[in-house]
Amino acid sequence: MEIWFLSLFPEVLSPVLKSSLVGKAQEKGLVSFHFLHIRDYALDRHKTTDEPPFGGGEGMVLKADVLGAAWSSIPKKPGFKTILLTPQGRLFSQTIAKELVQIPQLIFVCGHYEGVDERFVEACVDLELSIGDYVLTGGELPALVIADTVVRLMPGVVGNERSISEESFEGGLLKYPVYTRPREWESPKGKLSPPEVLLGGNHKEIQKWRVAQMEERTRVRRPDLWDVRSTLRTKNRS
Ligand code: SAM
Repeated sequence: MEIWFLSLFPEVLSPVLKSSLVGKAQEKGLVSFHFLHIRDYALDRHKTTDEPPFGGGEGMVLKADVLGAAWSSIPKKPGFKTILLTPQGRLFSQTIAKELVQIPQLIFVCGHYEGVDERFVEACVDLELSIGDYVLTGGELPALVIADTVVRLMPGVVGNERSISEESFEGGLLKYPVYTRPREWESPKGKLSPPEVLLGGNHKEIQKWRVAQMEERTRVRRPDLWDVRSTLRTKNRS
């Protein structure tokens, strides 16, 4: 897979993508990252990338002609998709990440200031994604969040594939709580031990406890997910 980033601040992207499992995925040749500095595609001698909005109003708008020139310079692979990061986009999710990991080339366009000229969106963007209902200064962090989530799903990136299939959001539930050594911990709140069932070695009981925890956590913490799951189960039964 190739992942491209169009950004005014590409220097913030590469250190993050070089680290941990995503960095290793790149070393193994599973994914390659490419960074285009939008300013390099400015068309005038002042390297102008943004202008005030037509009709007046706050802030500056990234120019369609400059973004278009940067985007056009990318050698496209069949099936590529261009994604604009915007708080107005579809809310990113694990389900969307699973769709994106099938695509051979992703082009992330990181906005800044007031956003990008809508004509660029009309002409070049396939999908607009948001990472949540809040406003960041730029699209770089959202692009990193999405790239990390997608690369993590690629076969060979996470050592144990089962750890992905047991993750939160698989099957519409949050994951059960986990514990490790020491068996007893002198915490600021006193001595704490893991639930007895996890120490007994009875795998059937452990599984039963984990499923109950997943259901309880989801019901309490994410009633929205719980409702979707309950509706699907009722539909499947009828
Ligand atoms: N004026 C825009 C609006 O009201 O919708 C917000 C622009 S924001 C200050 C600048 C850039 O940050 C956006 O163009 C986008 O690329 C990025 N951005 C900010 N919040 C985001 C979010 N929640 N999800 C995805 N991208 C976001």
